[in-house]
Amino acid sequence: MSNPYRMENQETKKCTSCGEVKTLVSFSNLTGASDGKQSTCRTCGNLASQDNDSDDLVELRLKKRRYDSSVMDRELAKEIGEVWS
Ligand SMILES: [Zn+2]
Repeated sequence: MSNPYRMENQETKKCTSCGEVKTLVSFSNLTGASDGKQSTCRTCGNLASQDNDSDDLVELRLKKRRYDSSVMDRELAKEIGEVWS
């Protein structure tokens, strides 16, 4: 009778990013790699992509804020101009 908790084919690999030894299922496939897996685990890969995303988002928000404030300044100047004219 086989043990349902026995792990089969649990080859492990050390993530080059976090340094943790994880099973191969924790690594995304990478065609062309020596073992067919990425050198960093999915968790680190996700973190990296999230960082990129948030950097882009922050950059976008800053650009938008700059745009909004310049538009608002112009609108405000117009309003003030109208009030004072
Ligand atoms: Zn990792």
